[in-house]
Amino acid sequence: MVATPIGNLGDMVPRAIEILQTVELIAAEDTRRSGQLLQQFNIDTRLISYHDHSSAGRVDEVLDVLGRGGDVALISDAGTPLISDPGYRLVRRALDNACTVSPVPGCCAATAALSVAGLPSDRFVFEGFLPAKAAQRQKALQALAKESRTLIFYEAPHRIQATIADLGDIFGRDREAVLARELTKTYETILCGSLAELEDRINHDANQQRGEIVLLVHGFTGLAGSDEDVEHERVLAVLLKELPVKQAASLAAGITGGARNKLYQLALTLTQENH
Ligand code: SAM
Repeated sequence: MVATPIGNLGDMVPRAIEILQTVELIAAEDTRRSGQLLQQFNIDTRLISYHDHSSAGRVDEVLDVLGRGGDVALISDAGTPLISDPGYRLVRRALDNACTVSPVPGCCAATAALSVAGLPSDRFVFEGFLPAKAAQRQKALQALAKESRTLIFYEAPHRIQATIADLGDIFGRDREAVLARELTKTYETILCGSLAELEDRINHDANQQRGEIVLLVHGFTGLAGSDEDVEHERVLAVLLKELPVKQAASLAAGITGGARNKLYQLALTLTQENH
């Protein structure tokens, strides 16, 4: 699995060039695009097209070469194969057939963006492309609203406005985010700010709706499910020592931002438990 540049040809690693020159066959997502790249590096190895919807015959062809002890390289249009790119089916079949699958690491837009975003990078989730249809995208975002790890999305330029708007609606517009555009290329731009600030910038500058984009969003920092319950219980326990149930629930709602009804029910349970 050979990574290729995501824009700047200077990022092609020497080992990738050497391997692409010496393998028997190169399987590429788009032979025309990869042909241009290979030409730049004087690589004239036989090139065939491969994507995850390729016919079974195409996969068999690759496995035949591997089966007779030959080497095959898989490349995608840009970056690391399998990362929002073809290759999974081929790797799976190769492993199932006891072939050795080896990485030649290099560029990946997601990690390149994370390395400069200034967002927590110790734990992160890569979500790839969100669904193109608004309703499905919003549903996917709802499910991620309480995710505490930094979120990484790939997004197409013509959808960036709609996605930023949905993110603001669902995550809250004060959530910190980063738009990393055209990385390693002439117009590389890294915009940091709240979702509200990014939305404003994108809506008022058509250039920010162009090119290739990685969108990163700070993870949720509020109290998650069970932590929230513990906090409600702690606050109520203190208030119930001094106040009747209704007043304690009302004050607890004001202090924690929790729902008044839910806190009232919890206050009732706590007082019953203590009698
Ligand atoms: N396999 C690639 C990788 O390792 O990053 C990703 C392929 S995916 C089909 C293409 C998407 O990656 C683009 O739509 C964009 O979201 C992101 N991308 C690729 N190159 C980029 C770049 N130079 N700057 C920002 N994002 C990039």
